[in-house]
Amino acid sequence: MTRHTIAVLPGDGIGPEVTAEAVRVLRVAGEVFGFDIDTESYAVGAAGVAEAGDSLPERTRDGVVAADAILMGAVGDPALADAPGRRRPEAGLLALRKLLGAYANLRPVAVHPALRHASPLRPEALAGVDLLIVRELTGGLYYGEPRGRTATEAVNTLRYSVAEIERVTRVAFEAARRRRSAVTSVDKANVLEVSQLWRETVTRVARDYPDVRLDHLYVDFAAMRLVANPAMVDVLLTENLFGDILSDEAAVLAGSLGLLPSASLGDGPGLFEPVHGSAPDIAGRGVANPIGAIASAAMLLRYGLKEEAAAAAVDDAIGATLDDGVRTADLARSGERAVGTREMGDAIVSRIRALRGAQPALTR
Ligand code: NAD
Repeated sequence: MTRHTIAVLPGDGIGPEVTAEAVRVLRVAGEVFGFDIDTESYAVGAAGVAEAGDSLPERTRDGVVAADAILMGAVGDPALADAPGRRRPEAGLLALRKLLGAYANLRPVAVHPALRHASPLRPEALAGVDLLIVRELTGGLYYGEPRGRTATEAVNTLRYSVAEIERVTRVAFEAARRRRSAVTSVDKANVLEVSQLWRETVTRVARDYPDVRLDHLYVDFAAMRLVANPAMVDVLLTENLFGDILSDEAAVLAGSLGLLPSASLGDGPGLFEPVHGSAPDIAGRGVANPIGAIASAAMLLRYGLKEEAAAAAVDDAIGATLDDGVRTADLARSGERAVGTREMGDAIVSRIRALRGAQPALTR
């Protein structure tokens, strides 16, 4: 039987609570679809500082590079917000992404029909929203040199090479092939030379994917489309800064941060984590929504382990659970009963197990 090794980094705050449910889901998916999941836990963030005085301890570094994929919870502790260097929890996350060479960040945003009321947009504007943002993660303005400031002037540098654009473009087109086969590339080619190179390179790479439709949007228009007509977008491909902004804009469509997963892919094993942070305001109470972490486990199965059938089953189980009206506190409308983190995990696990009875041929 295939055996997959997963490094689990629960992290801080609600991280351990939601990660526990995601690990349970991975194990059950393995049972149902016929593969073994081996997990080993490692400290990151404030938990790493407590364990080894470092937000990304040596033991964690060694463990993640040896794993097939990494499942993370969240990092962050208000008590360490101003800690220096590697003692700041968020520094551990940045160091982790760097260590893994994770250059493509994938953030799917789908609006479940029963949750359209939770978004600030009109419910009818949300029908059919199911998009994936692919953001370049290791280049652009956030890393370009020279950078610096004096009292009266500051400079940052926007720089991209063809090789950097090409590799993230391929991630977007490969992802589009598993979806609705459309890529919207976002740039500012009417003003920026870097964007002109971006557009030329994306257009050239697209010739290798004749089955995928490509269109280009300027970033200002893309920002409008995400709220005016988000269902038109399948895969949205963009550079680091634009992606940072547009992915947070798109997150609002879903209605709760607690629902959203992400994947960071690159040269090493992939990193899969919910979009939300450590939520210190609700940590330790067992009320956090684990769906973002569980949907991250589905991405881990899909992109990290190539277990597509298991990934689809986890996504379907999440959808069925929401169809059946199960709600954590962040999703419940007034008067609706809210379940805790564990109960939401139970509900999703039982729906994955139900597949075994329904479709024994799925096991291989
Ligand atoms: P946050 O995402 O932790 O929380 C924002 C709000 O959303 C809070 O009210 C919280 O209760 C709620 N929320 C978040 N996840 C939820 C869930 N699963 N279920 C229900 N409600 C949920 O953002 P923040 O409060 O700005 O940051 C808290 C800490 O997390 C900070 O230290 C920050 O630096 C860190 N952070 C880490 C990451 C990460 O690990 N990737 C991302 C963002 C923030």
